[in-house]
Amino acid sequence: MVFGNLGDDCATGVAFTRNPGNGDNHFYGEYLVNAQGEDVVAGIRTPAPINDFSKNSQSKHLKTLQLIMPHLYEELDHYQKKLEIHYKDMQDIEFTIEKGTLYMLQCRVGKRNGIAAVKMAMDMYEEGLISKETAIMRVGPNQLVELLLPRLDPKAEAKSQPIAKGLPAGPGGAKGRIVFDSEKAVSWAEKNEPVILVRDETSPEDVEGMHASKAILTSKGGMTSHAALVARGWGKCCIVGCNDIEINSEQGILRSKSGKTLHEGDWISLNGTTGLVYEGSLPLVSVNVEENQSYNSLMKLVDEVKVLEVRANVETPEDALHAIQFGATGIGLFRTEHMFYGENSEEPLFLLRKMIISDTVEERRKALNELSVYVKKDIKETMDVMDGYPVTIRLLDPPLHEFVPHDKNKIAELSHELGIKVSTLRKRVLALHENNPMLGHRGVRLGVSYPEITEMQIRAIFEAAVELTEKGKKVFPEIMIPVTCTVNELKDQKEIVNRVYSEVCLQKGVQKIDYAFGTMIEIPRAALKADHMATEAEFFSFGTNDLTQMSFGFSRDDIGGFLPTYLDKKILKDDPFQTIDQQGVGELIRIGIERGRSVRKDLEVGICGEHGGDPESVKFCHKLGMNYVSCSPFRVPIARLAAAQASVEMPRHEVQYT
Ligand code: PEP
Ligand code: MG
Repeated sequence: MVFGNLGDDCATGVAFTRNPGNGDNHFYGEYLVNAQGEDVVAGIRTPAPINDFSKNSQSKHLKTLQLIMPHLYEELDHYQKKLEIHYKDMQDIEFTIEKGTLYMLQCRVGKRNGIAAVKMAMDMYEEGLISKETAIMRVGPNQLVELLLPRLDPKAEAKSQPIAKGLPAGPGGAKGRIVFDSEKAVSWAEKNEPVILVRDETSPEDVEGMHASKAILTSKGGMTSHAALVARGWGKCCIVGCNDIEINSEQGILRSKSGKTLHEGDWISLNGTTGLVYEGSLPLVSVNVEENQSYNSLMKLVDEVKVLEVRANVETPEDALHAIQFGATGIGLFRTEHMFYGENSEEPLFLLRKMIISDTVEERRKALNELSVYVKKDIKETMDVMDGYPVTIRLLDPPLHEFVPHDKNKIAELSHELGIKVSTLRKRVLALHENNPMLGHRGVRLGVSYPEITEMQIRAIFEAAVELTEKGKKVFPEIMIPVTCTVNELKDQKEIVNRVYSEVCLQKGVQKIDYAFGTMIEIPRAALKADHMATEAEFFSFGTNDLTQMSFGFSRDDIGGFLPTYLDKKILKDDPFQTIDQQGVGELIRIGIERGRSVRKDLEVGICGEHGGDPESVKFCHKLGMNYVSCSPFRVPIARLAAAQASVEMPRHEVQYT
């Protein structure tokens, strides 16, 4: 037992061999004269800095240990250097000085934030202290979020009490004033008012309001609900399934279970990484990642080591550019329906609606012809940006009723625009109603029922490809058929693809258009019958959002209602929509890959569900021998790092190819 509280020639302190806040290679710590260890951590006395590098605004006027006990400081400095070299990592050290003698009490690997983790890893690598592989393993993939997105100031957050907690659907932090409807979000944002859209759940009609908002908070929904998917795609902070709040949007009131009542216009702050909601306006902090040398050097190492390709889920040229900047080497999921939501969607949406409510094939073809101009432009612009990289274009997936208005006024408006009777339109809209649309007339089923929809999309893809090639661009579209469960669906669609291919080649006077034909595997049956599916498909992309939904029988939009209880009661360890359920859904993926490759050795396999950006799931995909993962642009660096870590942990030659 040694004592730091026997007089003024005694002291005690806690120090780090490098600064845990920013990673600087400076000895960093605090101490108290005439005190014991608990006095330093108790916060009753303000500890003094051990040296000038450790001063902060509260302690800058206090005398440093280096100043008042220079010899002991030197001795301490000598030990800290020795310890770091010995353990090859930043150490958290506790020491006591008793009557002029220094005692080292303990040391352990020190905790650090993301910014510091990246800097320390790269500094230590460059100093020759650690290997490339160790540097890669030193940074938690999710720690990169701190560098990529703004976040709530951790100091301010530590002093605040959250009013609610939901599911962390879009990481990073945001603050803004509460609005309860999308139109208001847009109009307030136009007046430079930062807003947070608060709703029970969102739908495609909210996209503009969501875009205009700093963040989105919903009381319902799960990690792959509409709000979660859209927000994550933009790198926007988002909390969903927040059961702790009750929203009355008509009265403009949000009530939290913790007893708070907030009104429209009140400030709230969200931590989308933890799912915590705070009342008021908390400060934000952010890093300029482009200028962060350590980050850029780390990502270079990552690309040298990883074998998994990382693609992005994007649908616009702007997002495609972002994805490339974040290191994506292709698009793994281009959701064609995106063009009917949000800004500039008015005309294509109108034409789509015209097509949907068409009564005859001729009417439908006419509307599709008009629509094809927009579809081609949309696909072409993004393929143009992705010059040289593959672009996986998924054919129309959502049930058609999602695109038609259901409220009285909007139906009246549309009937006027289309020049048909309100009653006729209402009848056709009603006919689209389904009891269970997620399991209804969607995905490939649309293409089977209305081959002309597939035909129009395929023609748009091939024509865009030829026109870009003529401009000297390298393009490689991958045509992806969604929601398939039997190889006969693929055969049916492939016939259309082959026919349109010949027609476009003839019409454009070209011998060949490079492309691949494949399918999403998102229905358990498709995974089980993968050997059949692979006879037609050249690639598989596991749609793990739907595959999870259909394997568990949990609605991806409603899981928020019971997931917290399932997690609390430890019935589930994790949210299966966030991280792959390796035992169940993972087993289906493993079977799918094994059976698919049993008939097509070079079958390209990827994942494009939201799990493609989750580090644990990325590692699992590596182990299963996938070729790529695809995720939202902002998660691309996280997936790249996770992929590199997977390679370090399990080099590909050790991977048990299924
Ligand atoms: C999926 O189901 O995993 C998928 C990527 O498709 P979506 O989320 O659009 O249904
Ligand atoms: Mg799907």
